[in-house]
Amino acid sequence: MTATRESATGPGTGFEEVHILWISEGMSCDGDTVSVTAASQPAIEDVVGGLIPGLPKVHLHNKVLSPTLGGEEFLAPFRAAAAGELEPFIFVLEGSVPNEKINGEGYWTSFGNDPVTGEPLTLDKWIDALSARAWAVVAAGTCATYGGIHAMEGNPTGSMGLADYLGWDFTSRGGLPIVNVPGCPVQPDNFMETLTWLLYHAAGTAPPPPLDEMLRPTWLFGNTVHDGCDRAASYEQAVFADTYNSQQCLVKIGCWGPVVKCNVPKRGWMGGVGGCPNVGGICIACTMPGFPDKFMPFMDEPPGARLSSTLIKPYGAFIRRMRGITQGTVNKEPKWHHNRDVLTSGYRPHKRARR
Ligand code: SF4
Ligand code: SF4
Repeated sequence: MTATRESATGPGTGFEEVHILWISEGMSCDGDTVSVTAASQPAIEDVVGGLIPGLPKVHLHNKVLSPTLGGEEFLAPFRAAAAGELEPFIFVLEGSVPNEKINGEGYWTSFGNDPVTGEPLTLDKWIDALSARAWAVVAAGTCATYGGIHAMEGNPTGSMGLADYLGWDFTSRGGLPIVNVPGCPVQPDNFMETLTWLLYHAAGTAPPPPLDEMLRPTWLFGNTVHDGCDRAASYEQAVFADTYNSQQCLVKIGCWGPVVKCNVPKRGWMGGVGGCPNVGGICIACTMPGFPDKFMPFMDEPPGARLSSTLIKPYGAFIRRMRGITQGTVNKEPKWHHNRDVLTSGYRPHKRARR
């Protein structure tokens, strides 16, 4: 069952302006930032440009989307926020958090330099400083939410998700738990919709977003890939693909859709187009906390699928046959549709309907 968590503070705080401080210097490929540029529900340009009615004025600080020339000019708002001189802000982390306690004589990842020592400022220092002052904290993408690929078994960095680092019971200044929006990368509109909900909450016009036990927005991650897949009818009738060049259900060639919480097949990827299994890609469960280890090797049939696809075979074969017979009858025009000189529709002019 899905548990729902909500902010202890209830309604938002009526902010007129909010900064978004987005650090992608976690262990990442910057794919979530790139993905979000494709959003249209709403577009990030519309949020930043003030085109969405009722939102606070948004100041976005993201290195890919920054109008600054980088360097200290780009870092200035981050340094100000860490010093308590800029608020309110939403802290967005992209990428997983390496364990700097085991970095040997170096460091795993950093964001700018310490102005006093000139040494790289590691990500954990930024997380400590910013999460303590942030009105809300958001993890964008599977690396930041649950560790993702960098946190695989056998990795040398000890990488983890943001909630593993801050604690699953972390609460921001706005009284909110960490908001996790997983996906590898994050689905653009899933992220923007969640951010927009948070901004309405910041404006004081919406309740906090409802989250499940893994801190995901419930309305986005409450159903499985299978629930929204175009190929689910083929699964039900036990017609399974054995090659990737097929329109049938992909479960026997590696699709984990039946157990994965993700709305991408329903939502599509960009502007409603795409969506993993809908367009021929097996679901490799990239939104799940157990990704990737629990779903590998990726192109093998999932263990549970062997049982379910075997059990459904007799039912599917029977239903397919029955539907074939029914289709044969309903796929024909009625016999009284003709151009002969006699009416055969069954019309009886003197027969009245009983009252
Ligand atoms: S392709 Fe995957 S998600 Fe789609 S019906 Fe088959 S198992 Fe379910
Ligand atoms: S359908 Fe599967 S692979 Fe595709 S985005 Fe969702 S969880 Fe990831």
